[in-house]
Amino acid sequence: MRQVNAVIIGGGAMGCSLLYHLARAGWTDIVLVEKNDLTHGSTWHAAGLCTHFAHNPTIQELRATSVRLYRDILPEETGESCGFHRSGAMRVTRNPDRMDEFRHVAGLSEFTGYPLEIVDPRRIAELHPLATLDGLLGGIYEPDDGHVDPSLATNAMAKMAQRHGAEIQRYNPVHAIRREHGRWIVETKAGTLSALHIVNAAGTWGFEVGRMMGVNVPSVPVLHQYLVTDTVPEIAARQKAGAPELPIIRDPEESWYCRQERDGFILGPYEKQAHVWSVDGVPPEFGAELMAPDLDRVEHIIEWAMARVPALATAGVKTVVNGPITFTPDANPLIGPAHGAENAWLLTGSSMGVMEGGGAGKFLAHWMTHGAPPMDALAVDSRRFGPWANRDYRVTKAVECFGLQFGVHYPFEERPAGRNIRVSALHDLMRQRGAVMGAAHGSERPNWFSDRPHDETRDSFRRTNWFDAVAREVDAVANRVALADLSVFSKFEVTGKDTLSFLDALGANAPPKPGRIGLTHVLTPAGGVASEFTVSVLSPDHAWLNSAAAAEEMDHDLLAARAKGFDAAIRNRTDELSVIGLMGPRSAEVLAKLTDARPGPWLSVREMEVAGVPALVLRVSYVGELGFELHVARADAAKLFLALEEAGKPFGLGYYGAYAANSMRLEKGYRGWGMDLTTERSPLETGLAFLVKSEGRGFTGRDAMLKRPKPWDMVLLEIDTDGEIEPFYSHTLFAQGRAVGVVTSGAFGHRVRKSLALAFLREPAIREGLTVKLLGRERAARILDTPPYDPHNLRLRA
Ligand SMILES: Cc1cc2nc3c(=O)[nH]c(=O)nc-3n(C[C@H](O)[C@H](O)[C@H](O)COP(=O)(O)OP(=O)(O)OC[C@H]3O[C@@H](n4cnc5c(N)ncnc54)[C@H](O)[C@@H]3O)c2cc1C
Repeated sequence: MRQVNAVIIGGGAMGCSLLYHLARAGWTDIVLVEKNDLTHGSTWHAAGLCTHFAHNPTIQELRATSVRLYRDILPEETGESCGFHRSGAMRVTRNPDRMDEFRHVAGLSEFTGYPLEIVDPRRIAELHPLATLDGLLGGIYEPDDGHVDPSLATNAMAKMAQRHGAEIQRYNPVHAIRREHGRWIVETKAGTLSALHIVNAAGTWGFEVGRMMGVNVPSVPVLHQYLVTDTVPEIAARQKAGAPELPIIRDPEESWYCRQERDGFILGPYEKQAHVWSVDGVPPEFGAELMAPDLDRVEHIIEWAMARVPALATAGVKTVVNGPITFTPDANPLIGPAHGAENAWLLTGSSMGVMEGGGAGKFLAHWMTHGAPPMDALAVDSRRFGPWANRDYRVTKAVECFGLQFGVHYPFEERPAGRNIRVSALHDLMRQRGAVMGAAHGSERPNWFSDRPHDETRDSFRRTNWFDAVAREVDAVANRVALADLSVFSKFEVTGKDTLSFLDALGANAPPKPGRIGLTHVLTPAGGVASEFTVSVLSPDHAWLNSAAAAEEMDHDLLAARAKGFDAAIRNRTDELSVIGLMGPRSAEVLAKLTDARPGPWLSVREMEVAGVPALVLRVSYVGELGFELHVARADAAKLFLALEEAGKPFGLGYYGAYAANSMRLEKGYRGWGMDLTTERSPLETGLAFLVKSEGRGFTGRDAMLKRPKPWDMVLLEIDTDGEIEPFYSHTLFAQGRAVGVVTSGAFGHRVRKSLALAFLREPAIREGLTVKLLGRERAARILDTPPYDPHNLRLRA
């Protein structure tokens, strides 16, 4: 059996990009196996659109990297063009919320260095003389966008990969995959390969290849079509006159894109009710075929597009391309390790695999060669969906994502499909008390509490209908006592005689002593923060680790990998336990009414019986008040909750949700994993030196963290707002006209009556004269040297 280092399954834009980047990184013995010819999945028929527009810096970087690759790098290396046209692109709108979204994305782009321009109707007319302006408020112009020939780009990557020593096996389908003695055995038509690493880059077939690997790949093929017109006289005339190519134009409200194709147009509509296809298994023999055109279902969208670009109506339809495109439940690709499967990787599920492929392959190649991603991976990490992402969820979310392909991405957006699939034991009780729910990693959790029945969040980029409700929740926490359902935490139990030594080797902080609680950051080999755990040590052979909801599968993999060689068993007990937060100055009195046991001081953990229920009581608070987290069996949670509620009533007990918690933790300057804490920065750069104990200890990433040459610095800011727009995330920070940092999270702090944000300064020497751009408006910002609320933790220790 032939032994190789890595097998990549799939020769589309994604797989070829990975092969190219791994080969360039010096990996040898890498084989790409393709059942057909290269590009014969989705890639060959893509419209080739490439953009820099993205709400998330990582996604934007994937896209920008693809453009650089197709436009500059590959043509230089191969001596041949990839057919990249720098046409520019523009999104236009009649929706004021959309203008806010454009301003936000344009603001972020000033930090990332891919400037996007907010345009008014006059500029739209200048940029796209064939567009009508009726009703338009404005738009956003992306000058470096364009379109590429997907086949030329993919073949160029393949060619260069081969030149660097990689191998491509065409017309060689993979039939079966199994794990044997720590290697992946890949059965192909041409023979069997034994590989250390395996990568699923099978695009439309990602789910099927995932099944061969024993991995749930939550992607669904959906049919998308575009039409290509005959010659459009207006374009032919422009070409004759030497006019530049028209920019790509999109109307997100009407859900279509339109670009110039030679002397005609390509028009791509996205209908609201998508047609999923072959959900339970794409036929293995399906290849480069297309479906029959089905323009009836998009006719209304075509009419809207013709009203905006009347020249579209002047030409007949030459071709209709109708093919499968994969959608994950959040429309972002799946990049990274497959959960629970060693050295198995996903690079699939992209619905924008051409514009993301070049960058995605580079991103994963870095991850595979360095043991950590080059940027924050949360938005793309293949483990962001757990086993709860079942068939129904996959399908309903794919249809929703397709329909909202151009949806407004509000800062606290909660989408309606696929809800109530992971429901806490306290769910109904919370709903009865006015909870307006959101979903975190598939789990329902209260976002805020309304005093009106059946209330819902009104999405906005500005202060919205939950602002006053959150103020009331914070008041209850700060002045009385309040309950929260914190069950969404990920919960891991560690047992075994090496529990303490495992914990000592795990992260940047030393483990707490038995009976105590600590916070530790587990680092990547490069010293970035992979995860953050609250560590509660019960005894030398028994501890609990809690982390963010979204990290469940990632943290399980991380802990399992780091526990190797220790007598320390890791069990994921997330679904078995509920967590009730009891927070506020009267919380100890409420607790005392229900137990004879005494909880310990701040940052201690005790096993106690509370209201007749065995509970692990952590005296810890993320909201900066005297308070407790009670971890109990799911079956006991409602009983305990009702008892706490009853005991708290005389004290004026209230409830609080995730939005209030976010506001209060910012007043304490507490960093949030996934927002402020990412693999990109070390705990030292994130202002957490007091949680780093590096003297005389060895842990992954320690030396790299200490050696980082140009540390960034996280600061807590007070921002002068106008009371209408509060900071949330991804706002650029300026000083002396330069972009010097970025906001990672923000909110209004109701206890201190200040707008607050955590931000990274990439020029840490600059401390004065800072401004933050909020939806296009610059606001003065000041660095707070200490948290504005209870800086000495007197309330926590009370
Ligand atoms: C009409 C339409 C227009 C589009 N327009 C754009 C656009 O403008 N911009 C954009 O970015 N994206 C666009 N897309 C999406 C884009 O086409 C895909 O996201 C992209 O091609 C996915 O690339 P990939 O490499 O992941 O998958 P694919 O190109 O599908 O490649 C997967 C490969 O895996 C191979 N394979 C599968 N199973 C096996 C097996 N068992 N053994 C061996 N090989 C196997 C397949 O043969 C295939 O070649 C469009 C899609 C459609 C349908």
